[in-house]
Amino acid sequence: MSAPMLTVDNLGASYGAAQILYGLSLEVGRGEVVALMGRNGAGKTTTMKAIMGLMAQSCGAIHFNGTDISGKPPFEIARLGLGFTPEDRRIFSDLTVMENLDIGRQPPRQFADGVPAPVWTEAKLLKLFPNLGEMPHRPGGRMSGGEQQMLTVARTLMGNPLLILLDEPSEGVAPLIVELMANTILELKNAGVSILLSEQNVHFAELVSDRAYVLEKGQIQWSGRMAELADNIEIQRAYLTV
Ligand code: ATP
Repeated sequence: MSAPMLTVDNLGASYGAAQILYGLSLEVGRGEVVALMGRNGAGKTTTMKAIMGLMAQSCGAIHFNGTDISGKPPFEIARLGLGFTPEDRRIFSDLTVMENLDIGRQPPRQFADGVPAPVWTEAKLLKLFPNLGEMPHRPGGRMSGGEQQMLTVARTLMGNPLLILLDEPSEGVAPLIVELMANTILELKNAGVSILLSEQNVHFAELVSDRAYVLEKGQIQWSGRMAELADNIEIQRAYLTV
């Protein structure tokens, strides 16, 4: 694997008295797409929130692009180039596509070795997401779920991230959009962006991921090549929905 962009070591997290994550460790290499898989409630979203500094109660060590981000506030983590696309999308419904994109704008940045990260502009993003290109002035509230999902990813890219945490991009969107989303993820990978993807669907994960971690009850139960997981029906039956 290439040099790690993100290293999570022994992560724990709780909501009040309820512990959700236990000693979770994972790595995402530069340019890798890694799937974090598990059923509803396994802890995928909580893992992403903890990495982003959004869990009030968490412990463990998290390094991103050579920087220790454990305990840092979310805005500082975002400014280091860690993008987060939440499951609930958080599109501004009164703002247009272009205005939503503008909100995500951040300066260009570099990888730890000084290599410049991919820089995204509105023009590039409207090419990457042709559906959005057809409706630049449409308010977010008048878009379909799939279009909103694309807009959320595009807005995250406006921040020129080195790595994106992508929470369930295929959930609740039409099959055609799922296919577009898979192609987009592969284009982002080609551009040099690393991705940690939360997913329940093996078929979608298989289209885009290099490796996978399988989560149950807040613990990693299996990890390995995505192709191995796709062939391993027993693991899928035990920890995923098949
Ligand atoms: P999903 O696909 O449903 O989002 P997930 O794998 O992302 O599943 P999480 O959302 O991380 O799972 O949830 C893990 C556990 O944490 C679940 O048992 C859930 O009920 C609990 N949980 C999530 N959010 C809260 C909260 N705000 N307060 C208390 N418990 C929570």
